[in-house]
Amino acid sequence: MNRREVIERLGWGLTGSMLMPSLISSCSPKDPGPEVAYSGTVAVIGAGASGLYVADILRSKGIKVTIFEARDQLGGRVRSLRNQSVDQYPRLQDMSSDFPVELGAQTIVGSDSIMGKVYTAYGLVTLDNTALPNNYVIDNLSKLETDWAGDADFVAAKNFATNLRSFASNTGTVQQAITASGINPRVNGVLNALVGNKRGATNEQGGVGAWAQEAALIQNDGKVMVLKANPMHDVLISRFSNVQSLVNINTPIVSINYSADPIVLTAKDGSTYQANKVIVTVPISQLKSNAIAFTPGLPGGITGSLAKFEMGASYRAVIEFKKNFWGDTIGYILGSGDVPEYFSIGVGRSQFNATLSVTVNGSKAAKYSAMKNDDAILAILADLDVLYAGQATKYVRQVLNTTTNIYVVEDWSKIAYIGGGYAYPLPGATSTDRKNLSAPVNNVLFFAGEATDVSGQAGTVNGALASAERCAQEVITSITKA
Ligand SMILES: Cc1cc2nc3c(=O)[nH]c(=O)nc-3n(C[C@H](O)[C@H](O)[C@H](O)COP(=O)(O)OP(=O)(O)OC[C@H]3O[C@@H](n4cnc5c(N)ncnc54)[C@H](O)[C@@H]3O)c2cc1C
Repeated sequence: MNRREVIERLGWGLTGSMLMPSLISSCSPKDPGPEVAYSGTVAVIGAGASGLYVADILRSKGIKVTIFEARDQLGGRVRSLRNQSVDQYPRLQDMSSDFPVELGAQTIVGSDSIMGKVYTAYGLVTLDNTALPNNYVIDNLSKLETDWAGDADFVAAKNFATNLRSFASNTGTVQQAITASGINPRVNGVLNALVGNKRGATNEQGGVGAWAQEAALIQNDGKVMVLKANPMHDVLISRFSNVQSLVNINTPIVSINYSADPIVLTAKDGSTYQANKVIVTVPISQLKSNAIAFTPGLPGGITGSLAKFEMGASYRAVIEFKKNFWGDTIGYILGSGDVPEYFSIGVGRSQFNATLSVTVNGSKAAKYSAMKNDDAILAILADLDVLYAGQATKYVRQVLNTTTNIYVVEDWSKIAYIGGGYAYPLPGATSTDRKNLSAPVNNVLFFAGEATDVSGQAGTVNGALASAERCAQEVITSITKA
């Protein structure tokens, strides 16, 4: 890899690299101190949003930090197409989208959330998705929410999603709660889009109790923000550029021996590293598959709660069309049986506005994941054709003089060291299980990452960042109270 490629993989960041001091709740934005006296080293495993942020906070306190990232790029599940290479995304150079395309996280909820505040501090122009009209699919008809307003089943579905928090003590799946509520199955697709798919699974897979408890915890203004012109990856890289040089890329950690001080970390190539405290931020798919061997083994409190979560498959496809046939002002098309979410990502951002971003999570994603990408795209076009009278196949952009459709796909369950989209709770899980997942071990082993978020934002960038703040505080307390 040449220097330019290395920088591209690591990420360029925003032009001019605007930096902010670290924030943790006890500090004012202008005061990252006071310094914490600590002669040891803290190792952070994983350079996604949570790993970068927790490293950034600790570094700003004067603590020596080193980061290990298994892959060749930073950001984890924040990945913008602009920073990727054509060998991985063969149609990249044919894409004509005049705005950044996201392969992972694309929206941020809460202008007063951690990431929302970063957007504001950087003066980034954002669009408010909550203001967009959405289409909902019922009986294979894609119509505006206002058109469905008189449909009692649609109203019942919306009410169920809005009142999700009332199912906090329910130990079943979301679908079981829906069925028990007597809601007509003709709106199951809408409900799957509004509840399960949004959180990384289907309604048949996700436990309603934990999601209900989390819904009650969230504290932000609920604005759904999308960046008008900046890739999210660039924002992450700029915000955490202070720790970029501390990352050892292409260094998967395969074992952590924390039975003595110093802790010994072993990488896949056999090289060993020492640290005095370790923060693990890897997706739970990696912990569940024992990709990292812990000595001693993780305590039962953690493994017991780990068994109550799964990492759902997650399939993102971005498809370009010659013409917008779904409506120039439409934001989302929600509720089709096979494809729960189409997001018209050009709205307010593009002079063409003819691109759909598809997000399919959980068992529905497994169907597309099992197909060749070309075939999966044909299946998605067929789904749209039913809703829009054959227009998807008619208007899909193709490479000139060929029948090659122009799209990019990110199949997250196949991405090494990530292995899925979001950690979702199984029936019977509670928000206490997230607390158990995040519990420090012996004041030397700590956990961050979206799955360990206890602020109700698990499965999001803000959840990952909130977990980093919580974890940094735990590490600091372990030092100052020692
Ligand atoms: C398709 C999709 C759409 C999404 N949409 C949104 C959205 O719109 N809004 C939103 O807020 N969130 C969204 N999310 C979720 C969001 O992207 C994640 O919650 C967040 O980025 C997770 O950050 P993290 O730091 O917890 O984990 P990650 O970003 O997964 O970072 C963990 C890092 O650990 C590394 N790693 C793994 N194993 C090892 C090892 N053994 N050694 C060293 N490193 C290792 C991985 O390579 C990775 O870089 C979406 C996710 C997906 C997949």
